Amino acid sequence: MTDPGPHPNVWYPFTPIGGMARPERVLAGRGAELELADGRILIDCIASWWVNLHGHGHPHIADAIADQARRLEHVVFAGFTHEPAERIAAALADLLPGSLSHVFFTDDGSTAVEVALKIATQYWRNRGEPRSTFLAFEEAYHGDTFGAMSVGARGPWSDAFSDQLFAAEHVPFPATWIGDDEIDGKEAAAIARLASRLDRKPDVAAVIVEPLVQGAGGMRMCRPQFLKALRALTNEHGTLLVFDEVMTGFGRTGALFASNGAGVTPDLVCLSKGLTGGFLPMAVTVATDEVHETFVSEEAERTLWHGHSYTANPLGCAAALASLDLLADAPYAAFEALHRDFLESLDPQLIERPRVTGTIVAFDIRTGRGGYFDEVSTRIKRSALERGLLLRPLGNTVYLMPPYCLTDDQRRTVYREVRDLVAEVTAR
Ligand SMILES: *Cc1c(COP(=O)(O)O)cnc(C)c1O
Repeated sequence: MTDPGPHPNVWYPFTPIGGMARPERVLAGRGAELELADGRILIDCIASWWVNLHGHGHPHIADAIADQARRLEHVVFAGFTHEPAERIAAALADLLPGSLSHVFFTDDGSTAVEVALKIATQYWRNRGEPRSTFLAFEEAYHGDTFGAMSVGARGPWSDAFSDQLFAAEHVPFPATWIGDDEIDGKEAAAIARLASRLDRKPDVAAVIVEPLVQGAGGMRMCRPQFLKALRALTNEHGTLLVFDEVMTGFGRTGALFASNGAGVTPDLVCLSKGLTGGFLPMAVTVATDEVHETFVSEEAERTLWHGHSYTANPLGCAAALASLDLLADAPYAAFEALHRDFLESLDPQLIERPRVTGTIVAFDIRTGRGGYFDEVSTRIKRSALERGLLLRPLGNTVYLMPPYCLTDDQRRTVYREVRDLVAEVTAR
């Protein structure tokens, strides 16, 4: 039987429809591997869009979902509550730093960000000092809904909607890499820009940042001390600080959360991708006591009027609890040293800006162009498939973000094949 290609009834995301390549048909997943319909096996080097933590089809999470489905698959979450939601909320409050302990459930990373923006705006209103400006970082990605797009970097993906996005101000992100000797200056300049903006007018509701690693913007990494300086500055100006940990949460940066790793407590944190171990769509926005306190009222105007049909879905909560069980013994802290050795083995003539934070390793292929639409990315994807790897480069940026269950053998295979791939796509 020949593969019919893209299904006529499916509109695929992030994919130009004209000239669309045949999507790979996936039959099954087990551990770090995916089995394709034609029998090929791929190592999932990107945790399937950064969500999978413990491998595909992990029986502990699968069983937890099945058990929960037989007991209670879903129930309205206003006026009703259930144990899986209360348990995951308490567990997250326990793991997150400071007084981040009020957990609001949503469905995906974008809506977790929407809720953070709404809470931040209404926080100021509830205090009787309305503020509505958001500061965000250049190259930021916070999701695809209108609010999330507004605080994200603009580009061809947002052009069609630019008239409908609210104005957010973007400041430089001090991205760094191994061997970067200009980082002190870049950080000082970024902090100075932020400080002068915050000094100019007390209208900034919040600063939103992807802590330690900007994901979709190209795996751009910053130092923990920048986040500390950012916290000091936002405290000084009474501005809220939002950590969008949708990607960085649950061990990705080598610590349980980037906030823990950097030693910084934001006022609001958004979590999603790894929350259920990659099994079900669910997200949370978590607020500190101080933020939550301003909503404690019987007045309708001070209430957060937000919710989704599947808010705190019990299956998602059960998956998240099972994923947290596994996370307790997951070796996410061990990846950074191994990734660092791998980067050292790459030819600096062929790559630049080698960087690593926890389980995420990245570098840029030297092409003389760069950026999200660099056509080298097509060649990287094709070569990766031929080598049995699932990679999804961001333009000329190659990164690895494997599930934590990657075996030593698989890791060695990935490193070797990526090294060869770099040589292949840069050969002329
Ligand atoms: C993926 C991502 C989002 C959006 O999450 P979705 O679940 O795709 O809506 C938001 N912020 C960051 C940092 C992300 O990586």
